[in-house]
Amino acid sequence: MDRLLKMFAVVADSNGTEGNDTEGNGTTSTARIHDHILGSGIQLNDFRLRTTMERLQALGESPISFEAFAELVGAELLMLNRIFNRELVIPDWQEFCSDIESVFERVAEDCSGQNADYIPILRDADPDKWGVAVCSVDGQRIEIGDVDVYHSIQSVSKPLTYAYALEREGPDYLQEYVGVEPSGRPFNSLELLPDLRPFNPCVNAGAIMTAGVVASSWPDQDARGITEEIMKLWSDLCGAVAPVQFSEETMLSEKATADNNYAIAYLLRGGKGLPRGVDLNKMLDLYLSCCSIEMTASMLAVAAATLANGGVCPITSQQVLSTDVVKKTLSVMQAAGMYDNAGVFTLEVGLPAKSGVAGAVLTVVPNLMGFATFSPRLDSYGNSVRGVAFCRELVELFTFHIYDSLSGGRTGCKRDPRASQHNRKQRDLSDLRWAVSHGDRYAIKVRDLLLDCMIAITLADGEIDEPEIVTMAETYTEIMGHQPQQGELHAMAQNLQNLIEAEGNSAPFEQLLHRLATEQARLDDNGRELILEAAFRVACADGIIEPEEDEQLRGIARALGINEGVLELEIARFQRHQAAQRSVSAS
Ligand code: GLU
Repeated sequence: MDRLLKMFAVVADSNGTEGNDTEGNGTTSTARIHDHILGSGIQLNDFRLRTTMERLQALGESPISFEAFAELVGAELLMLNRIFNRELVIPDWQEFCSDIESVFERVAEDCSGQNADYIPILRDADPDKWGVAVCSVDGQRIEIGDVDVYHSIQSVSKPLTYAYALEREGPDYLQEYVGVEPSGRPFNSLELLPDLRPFNPCVNAGAIMTAGVVASSWPDQDARGITEEIMKLWSDLCGAVAPVQFSEETMLSEKATADNNYAIAYLLRGGKGLPRGVDLNKMLDLYLSCCSIEMTASMLAVAAATLANGGVCPITSQQVLSTDVVKKTLSVMQAAGMYDNAGVFTLEVGLPAKSGVAGAVLTVVPNLMGFATFSPRLDSYGNSVRGVAFCRELVELFTFHIYDSLSGGRTGCKRDPRASQHNRKQRDLSDLRWAVSHGDRYAIKVRDLLLDCMIAITLADGEIDEPEIVTMAETYTEIMGHQPQQGELHAMAQNLQNLIEAEGNSAPFEQLLHRLATEQARLDDNGRELILEAAFRVACADGIIEPEEDEQLRGIARALGINEGVLELEIARFQRHQAAQRSVSAS
């Protein structure tokens, strides 16, 4: 089929049969096109769709024929093709958003920690604020909660001032003054490397020295003027989705409470010396004013996505930083971004991130997305409690930890929303199904466990009847792509039934769990997923998950080594699906 016709078919309303118009007969509308774009995660004011949006606005609400559609989409065809054909980096954006929302809700319950209290504006900030914003490297965006609250970026500024200095001065000059070693010390420690350089640009000493390098390269510009330049960098990084602001109040308070930072500055000047003999006050003013820049979580998420995308802002396509500079910046964030908890954070979350004491955490999933959280309560290291909890939960559910790719296909069935993985998974699953029919030993093991699971669940009430056998046969056919062998299910059910009679009600299920636990180390994620899916479908065949079914599914997931949180997502998806079906049949 012609590719344009195929695109049109996705959005066309041909007499109420959406998505089926392959002849170009029906029409579409501005509203339908908007819905499809928004459903993909792309916002309507996206720079990459501005011509299409202008044309749509001119067309108003009148029906759009295939010919009009073809003319409409031409100027931004590649982008629209990816949107309508679900070829963006996270193809199933709606599903992904629902997962993010459930993590957001769970983390919201954590009210531990305390606001930073060294300056009034942070001490008095509303501690209950909680926002999460995500932006993919294709510019798909979701924003939940308090994502538009301006707050000072504080230490989140540090890696970006470093990136700015790298672009301006190059790595060699910077390296002479600032190290790249994790410090393992609190952020405001006065300790330095043996050669008297600060440990890295993410602790105060390193950030102050980095500010010194930048300040020394602008002899004719005062600290505020240079800050304006750095604010321009931030604005480009976040695709100018909102204005980058400056908080005079924060700056005044920071200056009034900067004794420790002055001590660091004097130490640096007395030790290694300051770059090009820059004025100490100018250096500190620049450092403190970078901390006083104000942004929102929604802006920081786009900035994080620009880093995830190698320096190219996903929503403006502008190369804001060179890829090499981004590589170095992310490496430093990975080693030292989360204060003196950076090692544990890398171990558990495995992503480059930077936090600030106002409650922001900016995190980068390279080549996939950036996200930012905002919640002012901090832990003892100065990291936002909910921000860290969100990162942790996310990597429990998704294969985002940099070393998840090492898993050899055994991640505990974590989700991978990436487009490439989506296709790979489908291919692996169809290979597995195909291999069963040719007698592959591994594939047959998966098939047998899957059958056992279905039967044990069906038999949980002590008996198995004909309609249940039919449900199992249908489920098997759907999952494996072919019908079970004749009489196979009956024979297996009979065996198990005999076992029940001999050993009591829960025997087959307990034996199943035991068998799954023994076999799980030999199963990869695909095999485990197929087995859980079979169990899930049989347990939920009647459209509800009864408490005992819920317990069985959890038992199976546990025995298979599938993360508890992943099962939660699966259950939540099922319930959403059921609710959607109920509302369709009600209307
Ligand atoms: N403005 C703070 C200071 O220099 C840094 C805050 C932070 O670590 O986020 O003390």
